[in-house]
Amino acid sequence: MSELKVLIVGAGLGGLALAQSLRRTGIDVTVFERDADPWDRPQGYRLHLDADGINAAHEVLPPELYAVFQATAHRTEPFTTILKTDLSVLKRLPTRDDTGDAWPGRDQADVHANVDRGTLRQILLAGLEDVVHFGKKLERYVSDPDGVSAYFSDGASARGTLLVGADGTRSAVRRQRAPHAETVDAGISAIYGRLPWQAAKSLVPAEALTDIFTIASDERKVFLGLGAVRFPTPPAQAAQHLAPGTAMRDHDDYVVCIVGGRHRFFPGDGAMRACAGEELQKIAAETIREWPDGAADVVGAGDPASFFLVEMHTSVPTMLDSPTNVTLLGDAIHAMTPTLGRGANLAMRYGALLGRQLKKVADGRTGLGQALASYEDDVTDYGFTVVREAARIGEQRMAQTPLPE
Ligand SMILES: Cc1cc2nc3c(=O)[nH]c(=O)nc-3n(C[C@H](O)[C@H](O)[C@H](O)COP(=O)(O)OP(=O)(O)OC[C@H]3O[C@@H](n4cnc5c(N)ncnc54)[C@H](O)[C@@H]3O)c2cc1C
Repeated sequence: MSELKVLIVGAGLGGLALAQSLRRTGIDVTVFERDADPWDRPQGYRLHLDADGINAAHEVLPPELYAVFQATAHRTEPFTTILKTDLSVLKRLPTRDDTGDAWPGRDQADVHANVDRGTLRQILLAGLEDVVHFGKKLERYVSDPDGVSAYFSDGASARGTLLVGADGTRSAVRRQRAPHAETVDAGISAIYGRLPWQAAKSLVPAEALTDIFTIASDERKVFLGLGAVRFPTPPAQAAQHLAPGTAMRDHDDYVVCIVGGRHRFFPGDGAMRACAGEELQKIAAETIREWPDGAADVVGAGDPASFFLVEMHTSVPTMLDSPTNVTLLGDAIHAMTPTLGRGANLAMRYGALLGRQLKKVADGRTGLGQALASYEDDVTDYGFTVVREAARIGEQRMAQTPLPE
């Protein structure tokens, strides 16, 4: 095995999927995460996973962790349901209608799960406790023909053969690796919160409890989105056979609600950034106050502390220069609005794919440059195809700003 030492910046879903993959193949990996701990800030609740995310989880996780993943993933009906503003059902769209039949790599096109983001992140972190370092914010890196050095805001540094920027939408690695690659505001403000299951189930249509996602919107394209997470097995119970130290935080079943639309229908992200949970919940309810009562009741039934502001960005598809010893993964290169629920799926898909490519390098079957070129070609082809599709559907459903030509 040739000596590969991989530095990953960002312990999000993409960076951790890659770290799990490298761990399984015995490649030296270290992850540097800016946040002080995994629960430092609200990151969201429900995530829709499709074949890309589920296949990646299967590939990168050791069997005992994949079993926890399966035990906690809510298998949904493969539909997105469109509601009227009185929350009656207008139509149920098979998900393939949204994403097209011909997506490469979708070998389980009808497999869909809603998972709890925190639970998924804990599963991806399990077993990596010794290689994930929290409180390490990357400031810059210096690449040379022999390797790459990463420099952190606390004055620490690290040296490796490859640096992977899995550091999300505002990637510090992207600023250096691909300064021409733009990530732009999608023009949408949104407020995201969580309803306890018992409260939700009497207020939302049955489809919102079973389908991938359910959405109502008005003539302004202001929308209310709903998505359920019903754990087949409670996370703590599912994880009870894992090694000590990998216990899961428990969660009850819930339904997420998200209210969003063009910035002009909200007080402004600047003003909203200063608001706490309950104030945001009130703004969300106010934004849809003209709708029949049921919609505001749904927002009002949310847990006030759970509401937070979501800023939506999208990458502008571009090309990458020839690969060096620095590459990008997940939202750092292909951020998209959540209209298709695919960003995390792609981050995990590319964590698994990059892991596979690096195994070939470690085994001496290919060189680092060739492995990265093959990975980056897939990212700029399939990855950006999905970004364009998310922007197209985002324009239709919520008046997202079109991608620049
Ligand atoms: C409301 C909403 C709903 C969504 N729903 C879905 C869904 O249903 N399905 C789906 O597939 N996708 C969904 N997404 C998209 C999904 O959340 C992202 O695509 C996914 O989290 C990307 O993973 P990532 O690992 O690339 O980035 P992230 O999860 O953002 O992780 C990046 C990590 O890097 C860290 N970091 C940043 N800068 C630095 C630095 N300088 N140094 C060190 N660390 C740093 C961050 O703290 C973070 O932990 C949704 C997004 C939103 C906003």
